[in-house]
Amino acid sequence: MHEVGIANSILEATRAEMARHSAARPLRITVRIGELAAVDPDSLQFCFAALTRGTELAALELKIEPCPRRNCCPACGAEFTVADYDFRCTQCGEERTEFVSGDQLELASLEMESYESSTA
Ligand SMILES: [Zn+2]
Repeated sequence: MHEVGIANSILEATRAEMARHSAARPLRITVRIGELAAVDPDSLQFCFAALTRGTELAALELKIEPCPRRNCCPACGAEFTVADYDFRCTQCGEERTEFVSGDQLELASLEMESYESSTA
């Protein structure tokens, strides 16, 4: 259960960002999570909701973008999505391909609404 720590990091990043935008409130934060990061999205949503309940971020929506594992082929240069642990190149069939991405855990975006425009 490292989802609590991840949810905390997301909230810290959100608060740090909001500190620079005093006249706005956060609406939705999007995080990209690779399938190799071993994060359970439901569990993360649950922790996030528990941590924001009753705080100034209670209305903040967490959006999780799952990212599949991607490999690239040293033979032909193709980059492809790995499905069912089949690491062979989808273009040329090369068996020894290299890991590119799929273990990321990063903030993609933070959408916010400014107080001024919402009253217009
Ligand atoms: Zn190839």
